[in-house]
Amino acid sequence: MIEKSTIQKEIHLSGIGVHSGNNVDLILKPSYTGQILFRRTDLDNLEFSLDSKKIETLSSTSLTGEDYKIQTIEHLMAVLYAFGIDSVIIELNGNEIPIMDGSASPFVQAILKAGIKLLPEKKKVIKILKPFIIEEKEASVSFYPDSDFKISYCIEYDHPAIQRQELSLSINLKNFVTEIAPARTFGFLKDVPALRAQGLALGGSFDNAVVLDEKKVISGPLRYTKEFVRHKILDLIGDLSLLGSPILGHFKAHKAGHALHLKAINFILDSPEFWVYDEKSFPSSLMNSADDILKPEEK
Ligand SMILES: [Zn+2]
Repeated sequence: MIEKSTIQKEIHLSGIGVHSGNNVDLILKPSYTGQILFRRTDLDNLEFSLDSKKIETLSSTSLTGEDYKIQTIEHLMAVLYAFGIDSVIIELNGNEIPIMDGSASPFVQAILKAGIKLLPEKKKVIKILKPFIIEEKEASVSFYPDSDFKISYCIEYDHPAIQRQELSLSINLKNFVTEIAPARTFGFLKDVPALRAQGLALGGSFDNAVVLDEKKVISGPLRYTKEFVRHKILDLIGDLSLLGSPILGHFKAHKAGHALHLKAINFILDSPEFWVYDEKSFPSSLMNSADDILKPEEK
């Protein structure tokens, strides 16, 4: 059996929201309910859980209800997914998860420091049984049965600094921490006025995004040659966490984004003939769990 898990200690982080431009304090608290719960302390401690039917995908993945919103949840959600943390309270005094440096590494470092605690509750895995493809114009997301959790992503931009980038890998914690988490979000300078007119990218800067002009990256050196496609994989992991369980299957995305990711997720949740809950087979992401990564820190 593989147990559900929470964090050992509270985590306090704060920073600006890339879209809202608001400064937000974020506290992650251990919880024993086996669920991920959001709490807005600025809205009378209003609580809500993840729900793939209450998601907006305008430049980021946002959880929305009649009287609340939490923007840009995807990078933090990807980290919780990679560490196998399925029980935690995410407390915020504002409407957006801080963007930090544009990558998921600050959340990874905070969780490595806090440590993981196993709970006496079994995890179940979503095991993909049959392939399917969701297409929209030139973009697609498809999924296939597999003995592990894998992602293959391909992006194509008509931009000399990006062009075509492809990467395929098993999403275990080690790969996530070294290959995916440090990759930063990116944006094009020419899109900024239109985004700001929609109330987006108000907190975006060279400190929290890879910024490109018409020809090149203008925000400093990249962290990887294929940083762009790596970040798209990070976004997809964060979005797939909306399925609510670890995944056994191979997801392939081509020129996709948050909206198409979400379409695939809702298709899966609405199509139980394509998958089954399994308590016996697990992806490598859960087999090597936090121990492999935590041990070097403790030495
Ligand atoms: Zn992102």
